[in-house]
Amino acid sequence: MLCIQHATLLTLGQRVDDSAVVVDGGQIVAVGRAHDNLCPPEAQPIDATGLTLVPGFIDLQLNGAFGFDFTANPATIWDVATRLPRFGVTSFLPTIITSPPETVSAARALLQKGPPPEFCGATPLGLHLEGPFLNPAKRGAHNPAHLRLPDVNAVADWSPSNGVRLVTLAPELPGALDVVRVLRERGVAVSAGHSMATYEEARAGLEAGITYSTHLFNAMPPLDHRAPGLAAALLADPRAVVGLIPDGIHLHPAIVKLIWQSKGVAGVNIVTDAMGALGMLPGKYKLGDFEVMVGENSARLSDGRLAGSILSLDQAVRNFIAFTGCSLNEALETVTATPAKVLGLTDRGQIAPGFVADMVLLTSDLRVVKTFVNGSRVTPTD
Ligand code: ZN
Repeated sequence: MLCIQHATLLTLGQRVDDSAVVVDGGQIVAVGRAHDNLCPPEAQPIDATGLTLVPGFIDLQLNGAFGFDFTANPATIWDVATRLPRFGVTSFLPTIITSPPETVSAARALLQKGPPPEFCGATPLGLHLEGPFLNPAKRGAHNPAHLRLPDVNAVADWSPSNGVRLVTLAPELPGALDVVRVLRERGVAVSAGHSMATYEEARAGLEAGITYSTHLFNAMPPLDHRAPGLAAALLADPRAVVGLIPDGIHLHPAIVKLIWQSKGVAGVNIVTDAMGALGMLPGKYKLGDFEVMVGENSARLSDGRLAGSILSLDQAVRNFIAFTGCSLNEALETVTATPAKVLGLTDRGQIAPGFVADMVLLTSDLRVVKTFVNGSRVTPTD
């Protein structure tokens, strides 16, 4: 049993000064003020004076990190997971880009087998399958040889209990709406992305059950005032949460601010879309089947197209505040409660009794000091 005391607690728009949070068996069991004597005598006290305690970050799109690429080798998911808490990440969706069905099966089997002995790290909540039902005209860094048309038979065993949490597809492809409906029925979240959908095609996708968009504005036509398209449909529909990559390269900071003003607190989700070079030096890395040149700020294919990012999620939060002028509490919601909502999870993304004890202690300049995953402490350098 742990008791984290004296931090400024921020969760879901609320602020508690000089807080106390009691953790038992990996769960948060009590939240209040330190002077209310919440902490049982047997609890190990942690003095967090001067620090800010926030819910653990959830990344819905991570292709790899620390030199590993999940699509090239799904077995590296656990290695990466052990090192993600240094960025404040306590749970994530390992993202498999367009690849043969055997790659998806291998990644699912790996998650279903569970972590290796003594594992201590961020929790993979299931896969984000980005593809293979994408529009070839907006394939980005996806191998066109593995793209295919949507087919309900191909997704027959995709469900959260089978390791699939989120699927990105292009809603304008023939058969896409049937796939959206069957996945939604099984509790898999469906996202629109890598798409040429018109406004009307996008609306049909939203009606069928799409609730999210993968890296809004990237790999889709830009906003046009006479042909509004997918981007406008997503921005205008309050049911849709939009994912975005605030590295200052995928989107101009002014567009990030516009998206924020348009969608509000609950409609924006920050992702990293980071690839294997996150946490590494510039050089040549893999993303799926392709070689990617990584510089100081970006990752690109040989023709210059972007191929994921090298953004960490804590840096993404700092960037988002700088780009939009929003409060820390608002920025936090985009990486905690909102991604939990996208996945339909009711036990993550907040600091409240009954929630999983996934939390981060931050300095006043928003650097990660300590991360707690399931109530276990993981320091940034572990
Ligand atoms: Zn993508």
